[in-house]
Amino acid sequence: MMVEYKCFNCGKKIDGEQIKRRVRCPYCSSKVLFKQRQPVKKIVKAR
Ligand SMILES: [Zn+2]
Repeated sequence: MMVEYKCFNCGKKIDGEQIKRRVRCPYCSSKVLFKQRQPVKKIVKAR
């Protein structure tokens, strides 16, 4: 199961593998990251 984080500052998704060593956004160096749960199934509305 993949753990995904989201940067609070730039909003980019960060793979858990990328921040094994440092909990820091690789894009903007922000330390404020959200741990995201498994993505909710997308509900596609049929029109
Ligand atoms: Zn960032």
